[in-house]
Amino acid sequence: MPATLLDGAKLAAQIKDEVALETRALAAQGLRPGLAAVLVGHDPASEIYVRNKIKTCEQLSIYSEKIMPPETITTAEMIALVDELNARDDIDGILVQLPLPKQVDAKRVLLEVLPEKDVDGFHPMNVGYLSTQRPGSVPCTPAGVMEILRRSGIEVAGQEAVVVGRSDIVGKPVAMLLTNANATVTICHSKTRDLPGVCRRADILVAAIGKAGMVTRDFVRPGATVIDVGINRVTEATEFARFFAGDAKREADFAAKGSTLVGDVHPEVAQVAGALTPVPGGVGPLTIAMLMSNTVKAMKLRRGASTNAPAMSAKN
Ligand code: NDP
Repeated sequence: MPATLLDGAKLAAQIKDEVALETRALAAQGLRPGLAAVLVGHDPASEIYVRNKIKTCEQLSIYSEKIMPPETITTAEMIALVDELNARDDIDGILVQLPLPKQVDAKRVLLEVLPEKDVDGFHPMNVGYLSTQRPGSVPCTPAGVMEILRRSGIEVAGQEAVVVGRSDIVGKPVAMLLTNANATVTICHSKTRDLPGVCRRADILVAAIGKAGMVTRDFVRPGATVIDVGINRVTEATEFARFFAGDAKREADFAAKGSTLVGDVHPEVAQVAGALTPVPGGVGPLTIAMLMSNTVKAMKLRRGASTNAPAMSAKN
């Protein structure tokens, strides 16, 4: 029996509806969450991501601001820009769209974002909060992976989970979240021996590699849940045929656009997995939904703290 497809677009819509309810309740108290997106340069993928983030903010009544400094910006100027946003009370979340131009020290800039406004969850302070199970921002894509599992009723506690990929943005935080949710977690990477064998141990297999269709059916234990984080654009006809030969819908899409998206998981895995996230329409849509959710959470945590402050100082 083919795998159940886990519909990320539907789950993302649910999460956005919940965020919209929250922003409505906040508006009734005269409060509005705000997100600033800093976009440097003209990377086409980054432009699309930022446009979609701003559009989603508008749909959910979150104030948003797009800041586009010149491509020649220096590290010091970026730091000054982040400092200005850090100081603004109407901005709850600061998103520095990566990649930054070569002359900018991206790690230094990300360190400058106040941890309480770091809605991407990349600041070492938030990484530490996640590792020690304290409240803080969790990176959006990994948070989305956990929402897919939770909202699809897939048991995590006590399960064998294998994460392929150990990046700071996806692999490591996914592994940490699964550990916090009581899975038994193995992290794999490019130096892992017998990768298919290790992956076959998984009840839950997460692929965050960046290699089109690398996870084939021999990586997957029959009935396992497979979460495909990868987004890879295929433009070569031979590569396309390797994944989608005989799939009329994909063939029409490829003929019209000259490209199509494939995950890190080969589509043949649908024949063995118990449940699988499609690409597109799986993990992808959750990322923006979780960014919206993180922005509202950041606002509640930070402004909640500032409203408590006068009461505390009055006591002292
Ligand atoms: P990175 O390139 O930062 O990390 C890739 C990881 O995969 C590394 O840990 C690397 O190992 C490992 N890897 C590479 N080749 C192999 C191999 N042959 N065998 C085993 N492991 C391997 O990528 P990201 O984590 O940033 O992204 C991963 C994928 O997820 C990409 O396709 C990206 O586009 C997608 N993505 C999707 C998002 C979404 O919204 N759905 C958001 C973010 C990313 P090593 O450490 O040893 O080099």
